[in-house]
Amino acid sequence: MKANKKLGQNFLIDEKVLEKINALFSVEKEDMILEIGSGMGALTKYLVKKGCPVVAYEIDRRMQPYLDKLPNLKVYYQDFLGCDLSSVLNSHALYVVANIPYYITTPIIEHVLKYIIPDKMILLVQREVAERFCATPNSRNYGYFTVYLRHYFNIMKAFDVSPTAFLPIPKVNSAVVILEKKKDIENVLEKQFFEFVKQAFGQKRKILKNNLKEYWPIIAPILEEKGYSLNVRAEELSYEMFLVLYFAVFGNNIS
Ligand code: SAM
Repeated sequence: MKANKKLGQNFLIDEKVLEKINALFSVEKEDMILEIGSGMGALTKYLVKKGCPVVAYEIDRRMQPYLDKLPNLKVYYQDFLGCDLSSVLNSHALYVVANIPYYITTPIIEHVLKYIIPDKMILLVQREVAERFCATPNSRNYGYFTVYLRHYFNIMKAFDVSPTAFLPIPKVNSAVVILEKKKDIENVLEKQFFEFVKQAFGQKRKILKNNLKEYWPIIAPILEEKGYSLNVRAEELSYEMFLVLYFAVFGNNIS
């Protein structure tokens, strides 16, 4: 089948990589696996053997003859970004496992998180993106999305995947990342917290003082006390430090 580049179709053909992804998690029979972008079912054929229901989304109808052969699988042939997950999910653990179309990595994760925080997400993504997810403050790839994910998950890179594991061979390197739901997710007003963090990163070259002008009288003494320069940039602050600043500005009164 001719791969549709616009749909990010790089099919996994290396069974060793598929086995390694599959070995990264186990499920109970009541749980659910969600796969986004099943393609011809390279990964799906392992997922359906795990022992719990598998729900998949695939935008390209040409994949139907391959996917319909697999047992224990419900496929929705539609754009995942337009789906209503609330009617699909059950109340047990959710595992999102996918070799996702790279062109919509961030929107896919955001779309899932609108409905649920999965217990585990095992995602094959572009290596640079994996590095962004796992980045620490002061590193090149650290940014708003790193902090956003860190709020919900403990994140680790599992392993790199060579371009030759795919067909057609992509121009970029890839990696598998694991996002594991935190046991105690901080109690913040999420919209407010994420807007605060986004504003802090605001204009890339600007120091925090300029991006968070209106909060600066509250923030500055805290930064000083913690030993930061007053020329600090958002890129230097950990997720935990953002929380400290957020609580100082907005208080702890979260209902
Ligand atoms: N899982 C298969 C594999 O590993 O060989 C295919 C992976 S391929 C990187 C990404 C798949 O996502 C393609 O089959 C593509 O058609 C599908 N896809 C792209 N955009 C999508 C969307 N918005 N919603 C659902 N599936 C999508």
